[in-house]
Amino acid sequence: MDLNKLREILKDARAFRLKQIKKAVFQDLIENWDQISTLPKNLREQLDKDCPISELKEEKTLTSKDDQATKILFKLNDGSKVESVLMRHLEERITVCVSSQAGCSIGCKFCATGLQGLKRNLSSGEIVDQILFFARLLKKTNEKVSSVVFMGMGEPFLNYDNVLEAIKTLNDKDGFNLGARHISISTAGIIEGIEKLNNEKLQVNLAVSLHAPDDELRTELMPINKVYPIKKLLAAVDDYIKKTGRKVMFEYLMIDGVNDSPEQAEALGKLLVHSLLFGNQKNFSQPDQRYYFVNLISFNSTGHSEFKPSPGWKIKNFKQVLDNMGVDVTQRYRFGREIKAACGQLAGEN
Ligand code: SAH
Ligand code: SF4
Repeated sequence: MDLNKLREILKDARAFRLKQIKKAVFQDLIENWDQISTLPKNLREQLDKDCPISELKEEKTLTSKDDQATKILFKLNDGSKVESVLMRHLEERITVCVSSQAGCSIGCKFCATGLQGLKRNLSSGEIVDQILFFARLLKKTNEKVSSVVFMGMGEPFLNYDNVLEAIKTLNDKDGFNLGARHISISTAGIIEGIEKLNNEKLQVNLAVSLHAPDDELRTELMPINKVYPIKKLLAAVDDYIKKTGRKVMFEYLMIDGVNDSPEQAEALGKLLVHSLLFGNQKNFSQPDQRYYFVNLISFNSTGHSEFKPSPGWKIKNFKQVLDNMGVDVTQRYRFGREIKAACGQLAGEN
C-alpha cells in the first residue's frame, strides 16, 4: 500500500476521503477496494488499477509444528522474492519480522541473505505490505500485530528513507497506529544510519549486530567492519544513547569455537563498559544497565557455511561471565528453525 500513490489519486477528492480510506486499509484491514462500498464506483476502479492494496504475491507459506512461527515467501512485481516471519510469543505478543531489501549487499559470512547479494531496495509500500498481510491474517482469529522488527532480509540503514517512511506510515494515528516503541531496527553497524536516526524524533528501538569483541574477528565475520570498525561504531552508539536516552540492544551470535569463549565474553564486557560512557568522560567501572544490553543469539545453520551453533553449556558460560561483570544479558528465543524462518536463514528461496 503506497500512501503517496493514494494521496496522488485523491488530490482532487474531498478531504475526508483519505482518512476514510486509511481507516479501511489500516484498521478494518480490507482485502480489496470493493469492500469500501461507500466509495464511488469510478474511484474504486481507479484505486484497483493504480493503487493495489498489496504489491506482494504470496508464493509459499510455512508454519512450524508448534504453530509459533509462520514464514511467508512473497514475490514482488519485478519477480524479486522476500521473506517475512510472524512470531507468537508465549505472553501472546505477536511480532512480525520484515525484510527491508531483496537480498543484502553486506555479505556477513554467517548469513543466508548475505550470500545472495543485493537485488534491490524495497519501497516503503512493499515494507508496509508485509505487515498488513499478517495483520489481515491475524484479524481472522481476532489477533493483532504487537510489534515489528526489521530483522528479516537486508540492511535497513542502506534503505534508510523507505524504512523511515514505512515506520511513519505504521505510526500514523489515522492508520495502523503502531507506536514507534513497538518497532525495532537492527543494523550491521552503518554509522550514518545511526546518526540519522539520532535526529529523528522517533522512539524506535535500535539493535546493533556486534558478534565479535575485536576488529580482527569482526572483520572476518562481517567485512563491513573494515568500513565501520568497532570503536567508531560504539562511539556512534554512545552518542545515540546520550542524545535519545534509549536502551540499545547488542546482538551477539554464538558460533561454536569462533566467538564464544569465556575470554571473548570478558573482552566483550570490557569493550562495552569502556566504550559506552554516554558523553561522560569519567571512566565507569560498572556498565550502566539502563542503556544497553547484550542479546545472545544461537547461530542458526544456513546449510552453506562451515559454522556450527555453540552448545548450550558454552552459551551459559558466556552469559555468566557477562552477568558477573554486571552487563545486562538476555538470550534470544529461537523461532521456526525447522522452517528456516530463524534469524539469518531467510534467503528468499523457492
Ligand atoms: N541486516 C541487519 C538486520 C537483519 S539480520 C543486521 O544484520 O543486523 C537480523 C539479525 O540476524 C542480525 O543480528 C544478524 O546478525 C542475525 N543473523 C544473521 N545470520 C544469522 C544466523 N545464521 N543465525 C542467527 N542469527 C543470524
Ligand atoms: Fe545483511 Fe544482516 Fe545478513 Fe549481514 S546479517 S548479510 S547485514 S541481512
